[in-house]
Amino acid sequence: MTGLQVNEVFETIQGEGFWTGTPSIFVRLQGCPVGCPWCDTKHTWDLLPNNLRSVDVIMQENEESAFYFSASPESLFALFKDKSYTAKHIVITGGEPCMFDLVPFTELAHKKGYSTQIETSGTFSISCSEETWVTVSPKINMKAGMPVLVSAMQRANEIKHPVAMQKHIDELNVLLQESDLTQGNNKQNEQSALIYLQPISQQERATQLAVDTCIKNNWRLSVQLHKYIGVE
Ligand code: SF4
Repeated sequence: MTGLQVNEVFETIQGEGFWTGTPSIFVRLQGCPVGCPWCDTKHTWDLLPNNLRSVDVIMQENEESAFYFSASPESLFALFKDKSYTAKHIVITGGEPCMFDLVPFTELAHKKGYSTQIETSGTFSISCSEETWVTVSPKINMKAGMPVLVSAMQRANEIKHPVAMQKHIDELNVLLQESDLTQGNNKQNEQSALIYLQPISQQERATQLAVDTCIKNNWRLSVQLHKYIGVE
C-alpha cells in the first residue's frame, strides 16, 4: 500500500518503552486484521472506502472514529507545520502501520531532522528507513491466527510485551527462542533488542508479575506513563 491512510494525528508525550517521556507526534494509521480481543483501538480495524474523509474533518474530530484521511508524506509534514507541532519524534502507530510501505515517510522525516518510531504487532514485513526505531509488540495467537514474523523480531530495536499472567511470559520466551535475536540487523550500537514487559491495564497482579520477571531476566518495565498522567 503506498499512500498513508491516517486515522488521527496528535502531539503528546510517548508513554511506553524506550522513548518514554519524549514529546512526540503520533500518526495513527487505519487498518488492522490481527484481532486482539483487548485491543483499545478497535475503531482502527476496518479500512472502509465509505469512511474516507478530508484531513480537515478528521483533525476537527473530538472522539475516536473509524474515519480516516489519505495522506502523502509531504502533506503530513505540511499538517505538522500548520498545527505548529514542536515535537521532533514521530511515532507511527495504528491499527497495524506495517500494512503500509513506510519507507517514503520515514526517510523524509529523517531528512527533515526528526527521529521516527514504528509500533507494530510483528505480523507484517517492516518497510521503513534504516534509522527508524522499531518497536515490536508481538501479538501471539490472536484471533486472525497471523504468525509473528522472525524478520520483524530481528528488525526490532525493542520488544514490548503486554502481560497479565504467566502464560504471556511463557509465550514470549518461546517466541524469543524461535527468533534468534542475535541475527538481527539495523541495531543501534550492534545491540540486541531491548525487552520491555508492560502490565495490561495497570492491574496490580500483572504489575507485580512484570516487575519480578524483569528483575529475574534483566528486562525493562514499561508502565504506560500517559495513563498515569492522564494524557492521550
Ligand atoms: S495489533 Fe494492535 S491495533 Fe491490531 S488488534 Fe492488536 S492491539 Fe489492536
